[in-house]
Amino acid sequence: IDRRFRLNGASDISVSFEFFPPKSEKMEQRLWSSIKRLEPLAPSFVSVTYGAGGSTRERTHATVSRIVNETCLKPAAHLTCVDATKEEVNEVIQAYWDAGVRHIVALRGDPAAGLGEKYAPHEGGYRTTADLVASIRSIGDFEVSVSAYPEKHPESPSWDAELDVLKAKVDAGATRAITQFFFDNDHYFRYVDRVRSAGITIPIVPGIVPVTSFKGISGFAKKTGASVPGWLAHRFNGLGDDPRTSELVAAAVAAEQVMSLADDGVEDFHFYTMNKADLVYAICHMLGLRENRKVRTSVAA
Ligand code: FAD
Repeated sequence: IDRRFRLNGASDISVSFEFFPPKSEKMEQRLWSSIKRLEPLAPSFVSVTYGAGGSTRERTHATVSRIVNETCLKPAAHLTCVDATKEEVNEVIQAYWDAGVRHIVALRGDPAAGLGEKYAPHEGGYRTTADLVASIRSIGDFEVSVSAYPEKHPESPSWDAELDVLKAKVDAGATRAITQFFFDNDHYFRYVDRVRSAGITIPIVPGIVPVTSFKGISGFAKKTGASVPGWLAHRFNGLGDDPRTSELVAAAVAAEQVMSLADDGVEDFHFYTMNKADLVYAICHMLGLRENRKVRTSVAA
C-alpha cells in the first residue's frame, strides 16, 4: 500500500530522540525548549549522551534527572567504559537506578584524547561493552541498548568480528541496538540481513542524523566509518555560507531518507537531534506522529 495512505495514524511508528548535555546556560535553554517541543510527540524514550572520557558525567546525570523530574518522558542515560574503574562505573549505574532511571545505552566509548587514538581499556575498568552490559543488568532490571554499525566500526577487522561484538552484547543482556548514522539506506538493510543471518534478533533501530553542517558531518563521518555519498556532497555544494538554505536542504535530505525507510517497512527511528527540535519535529509529523493531548496538558502545566 502507498505509504501516504498507510501512515494515516501513527500507531505503527515509534521514535526516540537523542540529546547531549549542555555546557552553558544558553545551550541549556536551547536543549529544554527542544525537549519541551518534542515531548508531546510521545517518543518511546529520549537519551542523553556521555562525553568522551566521562567528561560529562555530572552534566549527563543532571540532564537525565531533570527529565525524570520535569517531564513525562522515559530517559535513557548513555554510559561508557572509558577512563574509569569498574567501581566508579558501577556507582554511576547505581545512582541512575536510585534516581528512577531504567534504561541505559551502554558503550565502550573512545579514548579521551580523541577519536583516532588507539583505545585501551582502563586497568581496573570494563574491558568490553558486553562486560558493561552484564554489570548493568546485574545492578538493576535496566533496559539496555547498545550501538550497531551498518558500515562496520572503523576498528573492526572483519564483518565476523563486528557481528561477534554485537552478539556478545546481546548475550550479555542488550535488548536493542541503535545504529551509527548512515546516508545510504542500502547500508542499513544489508547490515540488518547480516545481523539476522548471524542469529541476532533484537531490533536494529536506524540512527538518523540531520545534516545541520555538511562540513561538520563529513569530518565526523570519516572518524566514525560512515560514508558520505557523492550525491549528498552535491546537494550541499555551494551552500557553505548559506545556513538558511542548508537547513532546508538538510530537512529535505533527512525526510527523504526517513520516508524511504518507512516505505520499506521500518517502524522505529532514533533521531540524533543535536538539541534542535524543528527539523526532527517536521519529519515526525510527516511520519504521521501527532501531539498527544495528555502529554501536552502536562507540558502546559
Ligand atoms: P563496541 O560495540 O563494544 O565495539 C565496537 C567495535 O570496536 C567492534 O566492532 C570492534 O571492531 C572493536 N572492538 C570492541 N571490542 C573489541 C575487542 N575486545 N577486540 C577487538 N576489537 C574490539 N560515545 C561516547 O563517548 N558517548 C556517547 O554517549 C556515545 N553514544 C553513542 C551512541 C550510539 C547509538 C553510537 C552508535 C555510538 C555512540 N558513541 C558514544 C560512540 C562510541 O563510543 C564509539 O563508536 C566507540 O568507538 C565504540 O563504542 P561501542 O560501544 O560502539 O563499541
